[in-house]
Parts: sequence; C-alpha cells; structure tokens
Amino acid sequence: MKLIILGPPGSGKGTVAERLEKEFHLKHISAGELLREEVRKDTLIGRDIKPVMEKGGLVSNQLVSAVVKLEVQNKKQYILDGFPRALEQAKGIGELKINKVLYLDVPLNVVVERLAGRRVCKKGLHNYHINYLPPKKAGKCDWDGTPLLRRKDDAPAAIRERFRVYQHETRPVIEYYRKKGLLLTVDATPDPETVYGKVKKTLRLK
Ligand SMILES: [Zn+2]
Repeated sequence: MKLIILGPPGSGKGTVAERLEKEFHLKHISAGELLREEVRKDTLIGRDIKPVMEKGGLVSNQLVSAVVKLEVQNKKQYILDGFPRALEQAKGIGELKINKVLYLDVPLNVVVERLAGRRVCKKGLHNYHINYLPPKKAGKCDWDGTPLLRRKDDAPAAIRERFRVYQHETRPVIEYYRKKGLLLTVDATPDPETVYGKVKKTLRLK
C-alpha cells in the first residue's frame, strides 16, 4: 500500500505513521524529518531552509518535492507523512499511484496544547512532553542529563502560524483527493490509542 497521511502539525500523524510502520511494515517517510536531516547535516538545502523552518514557515514546493521523490524511488510500500501539502505537489506525484489518503482532522486549540508542551534535549536526540511524556527530573534529559528545550517552531505563535498556513495550503489537496475517491477522514482529537484504532478500522487493516 502507498498511503498519504494528511493532518495539521500536532494531529499526531507522525505517531500514527510510526505505529503503522511497526505493525504493517509500511516504510514511514516523513518530509519534516527529511528536511530536518538536511539542516542537521548542514547541506546546501539545509542552509536554505533553516531560517524558514525556525520561523514556522513552509519550505518551497520544489525543494520538498525533490527531497521526497529521491526518498520514495523504487519503494512499493510506504506512508508519506507531511507531503504533499500543496496542490502543486499532489499533482506532481501522479505517477506514484497512491492507494489511500488518510486525513487526521483536529482543531487548533487541541494542536496548541499538544505542541507547546513538547521538549527536546539539547543533544536533539530525545523527545518529551511536559504533560504526556515528562522526564524523570524536570527540565533534564533522562538519557544524557542535558537541559530540555522547546524547538522554536513549537512556540505558540509559531504553532498558530503553521496551522493557519497548513490549512490554507492543504485544503485544496484534501479536495483533490476527495474528488479522486481516495480520501478517508478520521477525527484525531481523542487520545493516541483511540485514534490509532480508528485509523486501522478506516484503512481496513488488521
Ligand atoms: Zn537526550
């Protein structure tokens, strides 16, 4: 199966994709992860996109498309997470023959609560959440003891901006796949376990 997961930042699509990968051996391809990797490696693309990502903006269609297309080459089973998020991108991947498109629907207030509480250790390796996944010692990484920080794009103002931009850019993508009869919508407001259960049912996976 070639699956696209759509949903605003904080809809939990990364978590859903990871679980589907583990349980059903679909390769999880996260556009955001691919881009952050470019920044970490300080590649030419990475240098271009770093300031955009820090401001909570979106990286250009061309750059994201190029990075993702390289990654999916020759793969038959995967989940695309965070891509396509603009109509232009969706139209540009017709040759991939996507089977299903899952849309995780969630309101802005839920998203802000989820994302503003996220922390990452100074080494950038370990993730926490002040409510859902707190460290054993407040403000310190369980693994390496480095201080926990909030990523710049998880500040509430940046979250609201990302959500607004996402809705604006992705609504046409959702309509595009709805018309093609590929769109499946799941309410992503409940806890992760409930959402995952509904996703499996919706995708007819067992
Ligand atoms: Zn750590």
